[in-house]
Amino acid sequence: MKIKPDTKGIAWTCRMCGKCCDSPTITKKDIANISGYLKISFEECVKRYLNYFDGLKGEVKEVNGKCIFLKGNKCSIYKVRPLICKIRPYSPQLKNGELILTYDGWFLENCPGLFMGDLPVEEEYLKYGIAVVKYLGVEEPTPNGLFEIQKRKKEENKKN
Ligand code: SF4
Ligand code: SF4
Repeated sequence: MKIKPDTKGIAWTCRMCGKCCDSPTITKKDIANISGYLKISFEECVKRYLNYFDGLKGEVKEVNGKCIFLKGNKCSIYKVRPLICKIRPYSPQLKNGELILTYDGWFLENCPGLFMGDLPVEEEYLKYGIAVVKYLGVEEPTPNGLFEIQKRKKEENKKN
């Protein structure tokens, strides 16, 4: 899979404010991870925590307008939170075999973590892109786009 660099990206770091914790989309794999973590069956997890599950994806329930897993400002299932939560504020899109990470407009206006990242944008984008590729369990990414950056950086590090 190719990862397409988004040169308009903005370095980011999560301030754990909980603002974006509403009703994330959740995949079958996420539900399996969460039910294992909570030691309940897959079906029980769907029944207790999801608005719906269509066999591939679902939506987490809200309580008082916030995600049911949010306790205070903290995620109670942080270790196994859904992929979409792990890569926020990015939204992954697959187009013609390419992975593109974009920002949702809501984050541009509301996320206090934007412009706060320590990593250069290219490296940050690569980090999150790799996280998505690993999660999807797709074949080794082809060396293009950001993977070229990774290769170049490795070569630079060897020289120094
Ligand atoms: S709004 Fe931004 S800083 Fe706040 S929890 Fe969500 S991603 Fe993190
Ligand atoms: S699962 Fe955790 S990180 Fe994701 S929206 Fe709910 S509380 Fe926030």
